[in-house]
Amino acid sequence: MSASDTAVRPVREAPEHNPFEAMLARFDVAADVLGLDDGMKKILQTPERELKVALPVRLDDGRLAVYDGWRVQHSSAMGPCKGGIRYSPYVDVDEVRALAAWMTWKCAIVNVPFGGAKGGVRCNARELSTAEIERVTRRYTSAIMDIIGPDRDVPAPDMYTNEQVMAWIMDTYSMHRRGTHTGVVTGKPWGLGGSMGRKEATGRGLLTMVREAARVKKLDLAKANVVVQGSGNVGGTIANLLHEIGVRVTAISDIDSAVVNEKGLDIPAVLEHLEQHRTLEGFAGGTRISNEELLTLPCEILVPAASENQITSANAAKLKCQIIVEGANGPTTASADSILDENDVFVIPDILANAGGVVVSYFEWVQDRMGIFWEERDVNTRLHKIMQKAFRQVHRRTKKAKVNMRTGAYIEGIDRVSYFTRMRGLYA
Ligand code: NAD
Repeated sequence: MSASDTAVRPVREAPEHNPFEAMLARFDVAADVLGLDDGMKKILQTPERELKVALPVRLDDGRLAVYDGWRVQHSSAMGPCKGGIRYSPYVDVDEVRALAAWMTWKCAIVNVPFGGAKGGVRCNARELSTAEIERVTRRYTSAIMDIIGPDRDVPAPDMYTNEQVMAWIMDTYSMHRRGTHTGVVTGKPWGLGGSMGRKEATGRGLLTMVREAARVKKLDLAKANVVVQGSGNVGGTIANLLHEIGVRVTAISDIDSAVVNEKGLDIPAVLEHLEQHRTLEGFAGGTRISNEELLTLPCEILVPAASENQITSANAAKLKCQIIVEGANGPTTASADSILDENDVFVIPDILANAGGVVVSYFEWVQDRMGIFWEERDVNTRLHKIMQKAFRQVHRRTKKAKVNMRTGAYIEGIDRVSYFTRMRGLYA
């Protein structure tokens, strides 16, 4: 099914777990509140461009593998497209489409001059060597070369990609363009056009969300328990930041399992263990449980920061938290939303909560273009201000429209993108 087929279908009966359908379901609600006409809805629902590539790569043992890859540009109404690249054995075009659209709304909510895009390569990065990942990355970059660039589409890290991968993308692009084009990606290492604070930015933005949500719900963070799913860039950082300010993190997970300690985990020790062993197995400071069990632990705040479709109609009613701060993209299915509403769970949605990454990516892009680099303190202060303002604007919207935070965030983002789309007009 093409994206436009999906966009014009009147009734959606797709499985709960299709992220693009989940995005469209939320879009419809917000678009109706905004009173958008059918033409505008169609434009905003349909990705502008989808590139599918096949990547032949020589493995270390001499065999040849061919990986599928995608780059989807959902909207460039607000500026060059922007969005991460993920390496995952499960990624497919609907996932990339959803992630691209979420980037569009996210950039609009925090008001950075970018549109939305996302990329993915279907491979298991955990089983590839560093040299193999480099070959996948360079081949993928050359395959999408024609549609990326500092003024067109600027990738960034996402699941199983990191600063090193971004450096290879920048280098490959630069080799082809015969220059050094640092502005083609963000999330690069510092010194290679990277920004101070970019690596921690998504987690730092989440910390602002945790504080704002606690303020609204009159929750004393000093007495709160927080559970974090995922211990990568996003999960590891938010857990560490909370630990640093004295908030108790009682459980954390990786893809295989979780550890729990009701007295509070020693997060730096957990992260050190993960750094050394690449698994939570053998960590002595807590009891091992499953990812599923982690989600239903009693806590004040749950931070899903791993992957999509973790909170579904099957487990939403079993959650025992007051607040969910979505670090991951799409961790909650559309069907789970209403269950969480019924149970009065205050959900800070992904497109607002995890926008800190793209905010500092924007700072990085600006710094690259100016050739002047900021101190970390400046980056963090500006990030905090933008995230706090975005939270409060969305919160005001929810009160005015009498909707939950997710719908409020969609309304905020879609309103802005539809305004720019209307102002730019149709080129025909
Ligand atoms: P990462 O690869 O650094 O870490 C992912 C973590 O999730 C790891 O701990 C991994 O073991 C765990 N995980 C992966 N699949 C899982 C599964 N099916 N069940 C349970 N755990 C699983 O990735 P990241 O950059 O931390 O991204 C995590 C989430 O945050 C993703 O949804 C991503 O799109 C989103 N996000 C990332 C950024 C960023 O700046 N990196 C920004 C915004 C949103």
